[in-house]
Amino acid sequence: MSTVNPLVKCSVDQCTHWMPGDQCMAAKIAIYNDERGGQSASSADTQCKSFHAGKGIGDYAGALHNANIGGTAKAAFAAGTQITPSVECYVDNCKYWKSGNYCHASAIEVNGAHAAKTTDTDCNTFAPQ
Ligand code: SF4
Ligand code: SF4
Repeated sequence: MSTVNPLVKCSVDQCTHWMPGDQCMAAKIAIYNDERGGQSASSADTQCKSFHAGKGIGDYAGALHNANIGGTAKAAFAAGTQITPSVECYVDNCKYWKSGNYCHASAIEVNGAHAAKTTDTDCNTFAPQ
């Protein structure tokens, strides 16, 4: 089994998996081309398929007071541990893509201001081969 996996920094605070510190709490994320079967020419053509729209910033404040979620997050932050999901990527014309749908970048940045749907998000680290 490959150990290749980038550190994920994500600024999509509309996503229910997002946590302060630009961390993603999902166990696994999948990066796709925006268009099914298409090839990405720029990072704007990629998406985090694991984006799940939250209802609003108030819900995150509420979630942070939730014992389970808050406790897990606090423990991780206290230990100085960077939480990162495993990454599966289908953007096979990216220079960081590896056979088996792995990403061998050391870190990726996911963003998408005011994202409401998966295609509003991008893997900003995408670079064409
Ligand atoms: S948009 Fe993707 S990378 Fe960002 S928090 Fe959501 S699932 Fe994680
Ligand atoms: S950097 Fe490239 S290979 Fe890695 S997740 Fe982003 S698009 Fe996929």
